[in-house]
Amino acid sequence: MKKKQFKSESKRLLDLMINSIYTNKEIFLRELISNASDAIDKLYYLSLTDRKVKLKKSDFKIQVELDKENRTITITDNGIGMNQEELEKNLGTIAESGTLFFKTENEKKKDIDVIGQFGVGFYSAFMVAKKIQVLSKKFGSEEAYLWESEGVDGYSVEKAEYDSYGTKIILELKEDTEQDQYSEFLDQYQIDTMVKKYSNYITYPIVMNMERSVLKEGSKDEYETKIEEETLNSMIPIWRKNKKDVSEEDYHHFYTDTYHDYENPSKVITSNVEGKCSYKSLLFIPSHAPYDLYTKEYKKGLALYSNGVLIMDKCEELLPDYFSFMKGLVDSEDISLNISREILQQDYQVKLIAKSIESKIKKELESMLNEDREKYDNFFKNFGMQLKFGIYNDYGMHKDVLKDLIMFYSSSEEKLVTLKEYISRMKKDQDKIFYACGESIDKIGLLPQVEGIKDKGYEVLYLTEYVDEFALQMLMEYEGKQFANICSENIDLDSEDEKKELESKNKQGKEMFEEMLNALHEEVSEIKYTNKLKNHPVCLTSKGNVSVEMEKVINSMPTDEKIKAETILEINENHPIVKKLESLYKNDKEELGKYTKVLYAQARLIEGLPIDNPTEVTNLICDIMS
Ligand code: ADP
Repeated sequence: MKKKQFKSESKRLLDLMINSIYTNKEIFLRELISNASDAIDKLYYLSLTDRKVKLKKSDFKIQVELDKENRTITITDNGIGMNQEELEKNLGTIAESGTLFFKTENEKKKDIDVIGQFGVGFYSAFMVAKKIQVLSKKFGSEEAYLWESEGVDGYSVEKAEYDSYGTKIILELKEDTEQDQYSEFLDQYQIDTMVKKYSNYITYPIVMNMERSVLKEGSKDEYETKIEEETLNSMIPIWRKNKKDVSEEDYHHFYTDTYHDYENPSKVITSNVEGKCSYKSLLFIPSHAPYDLYTKEYKKGLALYSNGVLIMDKCEELLPDYFSFMKGLVDSEDISLNISREILQQDYQVKLIAKSIESKIKKELESMLNEDREKYDNFFKNFGMQLKFGIYNDYGMHKDVLKDLIMFYSSSEEKLVTLKEYISRMKKDQDKIFYACGESIDKIGLLPQVEGIKDKGYEVLYLTEYVDEFALQMLMEYEGKQFANICSENIDLDSEDEKKELESKNKQGKEMFEEMLNALHEEVSEIKYTNKLKNHPVCLTSKGNVSVEMEKVINSMPTDEKIKAETILEINENHPIVKKLESLYKNDKEELGKYTKVLYAQARLIEGLPIDNPTEVTNLICDIMS
């Protein structure tokens, strides 16, 4: 029989499984039962939608058999089954999404997290089994096939006999070692406990022959052993249970098992809506972002059930992009079982449910924001970026849903604050929401413009994410207050007297500025004095719609499109450098040119912008120094 090789990533994963660094070995049963349940879901769905398939819900079951002598555990389902090609494809490779994260082979802790997170499914059986056989016949097909593997060496698939449709998986357990007692998985009570712990809510019966000691009929003290098939799981899905009968812990268990997360969710949201469209939903806000949230591979969506029957795993229409981190499910009697993907997109009921779910999530986030700030801060650190993208995307269509949920770091509070909180603290004469952009909180704090404005007692929002400024521009205003980048020139905090004084100084300096502009070859569009700086000699501000920060972001993108912010070089009118410049203007215009170039380079550096010709600038500095 010809042995085939596993795909290379699968091999590494297998290696991990076989050498099983993952301590929680018992999850293999949950994984196999969950696969069996999925396979039955598929066939049950067919039976409801295809008249030719005559099966009832009560026909389905998952059977577990233990054989102590041969050290085997057998899990049988009468689900859809697999043909030869599917056996090869499904069991010869693992899900692509998981493979990405196996670069860090040495970082064992990470690998364990990955196992926890992706739930490596079928392969987890290799944690406990030295040999696995999968006997399967696809529903409606005549031929059965046997897949067999003893681990990394590879696997084989050959034709076989099987008198039923569905799948039978036979695990031959590893020998016991001092560390690991694999034999415990041959104990019926152990298996019973594991099923109740991990698979209680599987909607099909999980049955096993249980040996029980019972009193002999007619006897008071004589016992006999009876073997009877028992259903181990409760079968009522958790979201269909009465809420008062379900503990927080039950929900957490369901979440970690279903979504393969190793941490409990930060919030469980249940709803039972009656009305134009009735539905039950069970939603979770994860407490951390999954590895792949910001990758192309990540698929958003909620599981969609029609009256308890799974229609699809991830219905993306139920979640807006900005809430794509949510996990959970929706169960509705008003959604037809036969609904197709295409129809789903147009479906009125689905739209109604999606709208209702969106406002529910929003409400829950708002109450978290108001009632448990620490939790919300953590939530925002994980998922805030999505909310800000949500404001920016679709031409700002969703900004009203999201504007009260976003936060930025505040210069005065030294923590994340909402726009509402900012507004509530605004000074009487202040009519704009001030913000500044930069790479980090520290760097923004050091910007000359920020220093000046803070000194005057104003609060400034620090924008560190590149989406931030785009989001604010899309918002345009919050409660009638516009946003102002304090590194743009159109900021006006001066009294009339101060304004007049500055104006006359600028008038006086006009000719000198023209001389300086010449030296810069129009790199900036204007040079002028400012009174908004405290200690720094110069700063660069932008004019018009493109800020210096946007120039940086857009020019760092891998396209040919480059833009340039229109800038103004502002000189601190109270800085000693002013006297020097004035004297140079009178006595040495060439030297004035050099000083101008150096000051301009300084201003660019402080803004985090590159200098076109660093050699020239450093030579100039040396020149001036000597
Ligand atoms: P996952 O379940 O996450 O997709 P698995 O490695 O557990 O990953 O399984 C891979 C695939 O093999 C499944 O998606 C399914 O198509 C198929 N499969 C596994 N077990 C069964 C089964 N008992 N019956 C039918 N198909 C199965």
